[in-house]
Amino acid sequence: MQCPLCKSRDTGKIGSNQYYCWQCLMEFKASSQQTGKMYFVEEDGSLVPVSFKEEA
Ligand SMILES: [Zn+2]
Repeated sequence: MQCPLCKSRDTGKIGSNQYYCWQCLMEFKASSQQTGKMYFVEEDGSLVPVSFKEEA
């Protein structure tokens, strides 16, 4: 799975529909390319949504 943000293929699958980018150090889903949302992983494991698409 290609990272929707940095386009890197240095990613790993961590769930049925979840992936992790080792370049961005963020989680994303297969739908992230459409939704424009990725997830920063806090130290306690909680996910913080990060929007990377600029609003048109
Ligand atoms: Zn990335």
